[in-house]
Amino acid sequence: METSSARALNLNRRQFASALGASMMFSMMGCAAMWSRAKARVVVVGGGFGGATAARYLAMWGDADIDVTLVERDAAFVSCPLSNLVIGGSRTIDEFTVGYESVSRRGVRIIHDIAVAVDPQRRRVKLAHGDDIPYDRLILSPGIDFFFDRIKGLETQAARERFPHAWQAGPQTLSLRRQVESMRDGGVFAISIPRAPYRCPPAPYERACQIAWYLKRTKPRSKVLVLDANEDVQAQKALFTRAWRDDYRGVIEYRPDCVLTEVDPSTGTARFEVADDVSADVLNVIPPHGAGAIARSAGVITANDQWCEVDFLTFESIRVPGIHVLGDSVQTAPLMAKAGQMANQHGNVCAAAVLALLADQPIDHSPVLRNSCYSFVDDREAGHIKSLHRYDAARKTFIADPTAASVSNDRTLRDGEEAFAWWRTIRAGMLG
Ligand SMILES: Cc1cc2nc3c(=O)[nH]c(=O)nc-3n(C[C@H](O)[C@H](O)[C@H](O)COP(=O)(O)OP(=O)(O)OC[C@H]3O[C@@H](n4cnc5c(N)ncnc54)[C@H](O)[C@@H]3O)c2cc1C
Repeated sequence: METSSARALNLNRRQFASALGASMMFSMMGCAAMWSRAKARVVVVGGGFGGATAARYLAMWGDADIDVTLVERDAAFVSCPLSNLVIGGSRTIDEFTVGYESVSRRGVRIIHDIAVAVDPQRRRVKLAHGDDIPYDRLILSPGIDFFFDRIKGLETQAARERFPHAWQAGPQTLSLRRQVESMRDGGVFAISIPRAPYRCPPAPYERACQIAWYLKRTKPRSKVLVLDANEDVQAQKALFTRAWRDDYRGVIEYRPDCVLTEVDPSTGTARFEVADDVSADVLNVIPPHGAGAIARSAGVITANDQWCEVDFLTFESIRVPGIHVLGDSVQTAPLMAKAGQMANQHGNVCAAAVLALLADQPIDHSPVLRNSCYSFVDDREAGHIKSLHRYDAARKTFIADPTAASVSNDRTLRDGEEAFAWWRTIRAGMLG
C-alpha cells in the first residue's frame, strides 16, 4: 500500500543514492565522524503494522545504502485484526500469524529482543540481552502498553491472566478463547471497554458479536454484557445495534457509563465508578492504555502522559529530534483511528521522509493516508469504515475528507470477503 510520498520517493531513488554517495565522498575527504561508518543507520523498534512496514520500505527504497535494523520481541507477528474471529471460534490463530523471514530477505536485520531504554543524546537503544545499538534515526512503533495500576485487583500477573485483555494478539487471544469454551451454559461473558481514545474503536463491539455468535450456537442460555466506560457505542453504532437487535436479542446487553475501577479475582466481580457491580463467569478487561513503554524511556510521550505528538510530515517527535513514532502510540489527528492500516500508512510516509532527510532531499509536503476497517457480526458477514486523510499545511495535521468517507450501516457477505482480501494485501505490504 504505497502513499504519494512513496511514489515520489521511488522517482527520487537515483537522486537519493547519489546524494548519499556524495555524503560518503565528503566523509572520505576528512569528516572523521562520517568516515567511521559508510551507511546511515535506522533502527526500528516494533515489528507490527507500523514498524514492519517502515523497515520493509526503508530497505526496499534505500537499496543497500542504508542499514535497517528491526528490533521485535516476538518470534512471529500475530494480527489483532481478525483475532476476534479466533476468540469466536470460526478461525484459527495460525491464519493471522506471520514470520519475519520475507522482511529479512529484503535486507532488514531482525533482532528478536526487547528494547528497554533509549539514550537520545548518545543515539543508542539498549536491548534486554545487553546490546546497545547505535542509530542515526530511530523509529518507534511499539503499539500500546496498559495502565494496569488504574484498576484495583489487577496488580498481579495471576489476576491479569484471570481477566485477559486479548488487546495484543497472541497468547492472550488463545487464553480468552479457552475461557469462553469452558464457560457453562447460562453463564455470563462481560467485556469492559476503557474510555476513548483506545486501540481500534469498533473492535470491542465486534468481539461482543463474535462471542455471542459462538454462545448462541453452543451455550444458548448464556449472556454477553458490554460494559462501556463511554457514554455510547464508539464506532459503527448502526451496524452493531442492528446486529444486537436482529441476531443477538436477549444475548447481548449494552451498558454505557461503566468506568471500571476494581476487579475481584476470587469472585469474578467487576466494580465501577457509578454503575452496579457485575459478576461474570468470564471477564474480559481491556484496561486503559497508552503508547508502548519504550516511548516513555525515549521521552517522546507528550500528550496527556499517554500518547506521542509528532510532526505529521515526517512522524518525528515534536520533542526529541531523530526519533519518529508511528501507529497506535501517536496522538492522532482528528478522526484518525488507532488502526492497523493507519499504522501501515504512517510507516509508509515515515520511511519516505526518513530516506529523504538522510539524503538531504525534500520531503513530500502533501501526504495522503487511507484507512479501511472491517467488523464482523458473525463468522462471514461484516461492515466497513473507510476514510481518507489529507495533510493540511495551515493546520499542520491530517484532515479527514468527508467526500471520501464510507461507513456501512449493515453487514454484507461482500464486506466479509473484502476483509480477508484486506488482510492478505496489508500482510504483503508489511511482512511480504
Ligand atoms: C481485537 C482487535 C481487533 C482489531 N481489528 C482491526 C481491524 O479490523 N482493522 C484495523 O485496521 N485495525 C484493527 N485493530 C487495531 C490494530 O491492531 C492496531 O491499530 C495496530 O496493531 C497498530 O499498529 P502498531 O504498529 O502501532 O502496533 P502493533 O501492530 O501492536 O505492533 C507493535 C509491535 O511492537 C512490539 N514491541 C512493543 N514494544 C517493544 C519493545 N520494547 N521491544 C521490541 N518490540 C516491541 C510488539 O511485540 C509488536 O509486535 C484491532 C485491534 C484489536 C485489539
